[in-house]
Amino acid sequence: MTISDVVIVGSGHAGVQAAASLRERGFEGRILLVGDEPDLPYHRPPLSKSFIVSPDAELDPLRSEEFFRHNDIDLWRGTRAIHLDLCARQLEFTNGERVRFHHLILALGSRNRTLPVEGSDLDGIVGLRTAQDAVRIRDRLSSAQHVVVVGGGFIGMEFAAAVAPSGRSVTLFEAATRTLARAVSPQTSAFLEGTHTAAGLTLESNASISRIEGRRGVVTAVVKDDGTHIPADLVLVGIGALPNTELAEAAGIVTGPRGAEGIVVDDHLRTKHPAISAIGDCARFPYNRGTRRLESVQNAVDQARCVAARITGSPERYHRVPWFWSHQGEVKLQIAGSIDDVHRTVVRGDTSTGRFSIFGYRGAELAVVESVNRPGEHLAARRILETRSPVLPEQAADPGFDLKAVHSRS
Ligand code: FAD
Repeated sequence: MTISDVVIVGSGHAGVQAAASLRERGFEGRILLVGDEPDLPYHRPPLSKSFIVSPDAELDPLRSEEFFRHNDIDLWRGTRAIHLDLCARQLEFTNGERVRFHHLILALGSRNRTLPVEGSDLDGIVGLRTAQDAVRIRDRLSSAQHVVVVGGGFIGMEFAAAVAPSGRSVTLFEAATRTLARAVSPQTSAFLEGTHTAAGLTLESNASISRIEGRRGVVTAVVKDDGTHIPADLVLVGIGALPNTELAEAAGIVTGPRGAEGIVVDDHLRTKHPAISAIGDCARFPYNRGTRRLESVQNAVDQARCVAARITGSPERYHRVPWFWSHQGEVKLQIAGSIDDVHRTVVRGDTSTGRFSIFGYRGAELAVVESVNRPGEHLAARRILETRSPVLPEQAADPGFDLKAVHSRS
């Protein structure tokens, strides 16, 4: 039996940042960081972008091996936490170790939803989450001629944008009326769809898949509801993610109202058990007047910092403005805030130029800003959201209106 002051389960963006922030804040106790992936913790976003189409690209580590050694952070790779005993404050791992903790940080991330149709277990049907997934897909892409993407969310769109210019046939099916419908405005969806189809992507909205066909266990075609067969030798399924909550659920820690909605935490990111926190993709935290879960690097990193601050004696409530980026081919999209309940949008710039921002309003309040290839403008808009500085829709739409001056005035 080992004893560790802080155990962090999950060595993705959130877990690694929690360990790093604890040390930056002078925490001197023992830190054990455990992840079930075999690689040195790495940046996940490139996997659906440059990495997938660059045969020689390597993983981009979050921190070097030397960093973990130098900061006295015990990193166990390829090891899974399989049992959590709340009363004993003890964890059991697949390497046979049992560890007692004073504080536990659950940074378990999320996993891909699978496609609930016949044939979805055929060889060649893939999800993209880990480095190992990405390497397998990249290898497979070298011989694939007909690529189908199911789902027009961020991962599907990024992957499609990366692969479409290669000359292979690439078809993306989205069940809703437009891609990224829950994340961006109709204007931004339309812009991205136009850009990717111009680069060679075939895109069908309102399309649902009834089954997948194969020969000798290997995928050959995707069949739509109307019976149309689309040839496929690689099918990427990108239909969203589910939080990894099983470890917490089995231990009796509260998860979302319908079971699979995340590990419920308060505004200090504590679960019902005061010695256990949850951060990143797996955590459902108070947001506006409800609760929500976010899948973004910013959220993972900022929540990790917040928990590290509390453990080192500087508790603060978590209330950061959500921020996300997505690189799709040449398009660099940045989103600050949330599109939920936005009823009015105004465009700053001209969508036909490929450089613009969309300002979204909830009532009179600015709620979200999406910027396409406008990083400077986005930074100013983000500051405005963070400081809740007032900007009227007419001002936002006026290219002569100085956004940078707004938050310095307020
Ligand atoms: P993760 O990074 O998923 O890490 C959780 C880790 O915990 C995983 O390694 C998991 O295997 C491990 N784990 C789970 N259960 C156990 C257990 N019982 N024992 C041990 N280990 C366990 N976000 C952006 O902001 N911008 C982007 O452009 C972007 N692109 C993305 C592209 C891809 C392909 C993917 C998959 C995600 C992307 N994201 C992006 C989302 C972002 O990567 C995640 O929000 C972020 O990684 C969340 O960090 P996390 O630490 O909460 O979870």
